Amino acid sequence: MFRIGIGNDIHRLVAGRPLVLGGVHIESDRGSEGHSDGDALTHALADAVLGALCEGDLGVHFPDSDPQWKDADSMQLLARVVWLAHERGFEIGNADAMVMLERPKLREHVDAMRENLAQTLNVDTTQVSVKAKTGEGLDAVGRGDAVSAQAIVLLQPKSTE
Ligand SMILES: [Zn+2]
Repeated sequence: MFRIGIGNDIHRLVAGRPLVLGGVHIESDRGSEGHSDGDALTHALADAVLGALCEGDLGVHFPDSDPQWKDADSMQLLARVVWLAHERGFEIGNADAMVMLERPKLREHVDAMRENLAQTLNVDTTQVSVKAKTGEGLDAVGRGDAVSAQAIVLLQPKSTE
């Protein structure tokens, strides 16, 4: 009756692009390269929901080749995936995510991300966890070249009330 899914995502950071994570616009001299708004955190969560449904990944549902998704608001992609879960008789039980960025520090934005994501996931903020980490100066995240995210989501049968 319960379903669990995992998702991850990484985007290159480049000048002249906005940095959006969990639907929060973050002040930064570099942002996510990508076809949509490049919101790695929201993409990882959406992939986790799709994984729990055994419905492939975001690339299947929202292909890069489709101009409809150019600069798309990733919250809308997540909303569609949540709608799909509802169609299959599920709602979100809880979600846990990590977002990895070297700078700027994300801690002060975490609560706003949780609120945005909870609203789109149709749950209370207490059911959505976001943890911000750095790459400790190592790897692509640590060098400041990338932002990455991982997420895990539990789906439960939709309540009938
Ligand atoms: Zn992505």
